[in-house]
Order: sequence, then C-alpha cells, then structure tokens
Amino acid sequence: MNITTLIRPNIQALVPYKSARSQYCGQSSILLDANENPFGDGHTNRYPDPYQSELRACVAQRAQCEPENVLLGNGSDELIDLLMRVFCVPNQDAIVICPPTFGMYHVAAQINAIETIKVPLTKDYQIDAQNVGKQSAKILFLPNPNAPTGNLFAPQDIETILESFSGIVVIDEAYIDFAQTPSWSQKIQQYPHLVVLQTFSKYWGLAGCRVGMMFANAQIINAVSKIKAPYNVNVLSAQKALQAMKNEPTIKANAQILIQERARVAQSLQEYAFIKNVSASQTNYLWVEAPKAQNIAKELKKQNIIIRTYTSDPNFMRISIGTPDQNTLLLDALKTISL
Ligand SMILES: *Cc1c(COP(=O)(O)O)cnc(C)c1O
Repeated sequence: MNITTLIRPNIQALVPYKSARSQYCGQSSILLDANENPFGDGHTNRYPDPYQSELRACVAQRAQCEPENVLLGNGSDELIDLLMRVFCVPNQDAIVICPPTFGMYHVAAQINAIETIKVPLTKDYQIDAQNVGKQSAKILFLPNPNAPTGNLFAPQDIETILESFSGIVVIDEAYIDFAQTPSWSQKIQQYPHLVVLQTFSKYWGLAGCRVGMMFANAQIINAVSKIKAPYNVNVLSAQKALQAMKNEPTIKANAQILIQERARVAQSLQEYAFIKNVSASQTNYLWVEAPKAQNIAKELKKQNIIIRTYTSDPNFMRISIGTPDQNTLLLDALKTISL
C-alpha cells in the first residue's frame, strides 16, 4: 500500500515551520536563539525539545521499536486530530467508526468537516470485519480494548481488516496495559498503514499531563510530525512521563490492584436486581447494562459518587474502577438504592 497517496496533497507539499529549538537543541549554555528568558531554572524557562528525543527513545525501547516509529502528542486526543488533518480532505474524505465507540473520533471528524461512516459492532460487541474492510474511507478508528464496552476484538477480525481496508487503520490501545494481549504496535513493520495509539492517561496515571503516544512506520510519523505544533509536549509533562516509566514496577503493581478490583466489582454488581448484565472487561472500567442507568447515576450522585451514563445508550452505564475503598463505598451505596 502506498501511504503517500493517502496523505492530503497540501500536507505532502508542506514545508514545516522551523522553530529555533528544531535548528538547535544541544547542550550549549549560551542560548540566544529562541527569545527565551535567560532567568529561571534552566529547564522550564526553555522551550521543550520539538523532537521529543528523550521520551521518544524511552517509549520506543519499551515498545521494542525504533524512535523513528514513535511520536508523542498532547494526549492521544491531539494525535487523533492530527491524523485526520494529515489524511482527510475536509468536505471530501471520510472516517469509519464502529459504535458503540470512543466519542472523540466523531467529534474530531466534525470539527475537521470529515464525514463519519458508522459500521456498528455486532450484538456481542465484535467488529463486522467484512463490512468494515470494504468501506471506502481514509481512516478507520478502532479502540482495542473497546471503549466504552471494555472487551477486546477478535485478532482474526483485526487481521481481516488490516488485509482488506484501503485506508489507515488506527488501533487505539488506551487500555492495553490492563488487558491480557500483545500490543498491535509489534505489527507496524508488517502493516505500513497501521497506526497504534497509546496514552499516559490511564495505566500510567498521568491524565493531567496530556501525553499520548503514536506508533507507526516512519513515513506516517514524519507526515504527522510535519503538522504538529513544534512544542506540543511540554517540559513538565515529558519529565513526569519519563519518571513514571522509570518507576514502572509501582505503576504495574497499582494496575494489578485495579485488575483484581475489576473482577471483584464485576462479580458483586451481578447481585443487584436492577443490573441486567456486566460485560467482561479488559480495561479499568465496567460496561454495565441497567435499564434504569440514569436513575441509578442520580441516586449515586446524592451519595457523592459519580458514574458515566450515555444519552446514546440510555440502558448502560460505565463505572471506572477506583481504589479498593472507593469500590466498596460504591457497592455499599448501590445497596441503599431503591428505584
Ligand atoms: C481515555 C482514552 C484516550 C486517552 O486520551 P488522552 O487524550 O490521551 O487522555 C484515548 N482513547 C480512548 C478510547 C480512551 O478511552
């Protein structure tokens, strides 16, 4: 597949902005090139490295790929938007999504005047792979594990799509480290049109820092790099992300607690009469079928507990897994509810 022909012609032709720090980002102590303020800690008074070299190297090493296959964004939300702006011509091109899915894809498409083609999941929340594969669109967005349903898609279905879909396949692995499955980032060499997104917001516990990761072949990484804001990941966030990666044993131990708690909460929820079903989850949240979801959320709110409901899926609610204490408070609060 030729990636170049998928890229918007104006982006192919674009000569990117050259920031001061993109022309020099070495160790000189006399930096008079970027109109920075020389007074300060020598760290936050300087612009960040536009190439994100240190964090990229660290992320690449963990994912067993090369830094040229990695790009960091201001959250994966930014990367989703950048992908649309690289590949989709406004008022002409389309993306494909498979509802129920992450709401951001459609919103970002609307902002960019891109059509959204919806190919709903099957009743058991799997992909209609034959149908998806034959859609004519520039990008397919697929969270895996899926948000908000929490399940993994059958790997054969993803393979089918990678073999048949004619555009870019974005696998959004925001929850991959809570799941028992390898990352598709290991397949970026095999599939030049595959893009994998991950984030520091969930497993790494840095939602407030806004750092997202993209894995793809160098051609795609270069095209997206061309259009990103030069300093899209700030100094403090990059530092926090690096710290977290050096501290992964702690992060991993916390994730293990969440995974154990996920099983406990899922099991306990089955016992409530007003809960119809709890989907098997490979994430840090549960997708719960409850015909009175809105009322349940309202009652919980009175007890200071906030869960997520959806106007598009009024019979469902999504509950994030909290600390063991928070989860126990949730289960206790549910006992007091009469609907
Ligand atoms: C939470 C989440 C993200 C993360 O977005 P950030 O901008 O990195 O915080 C991305 N995709 C899905 C499906 C998510 O649920």
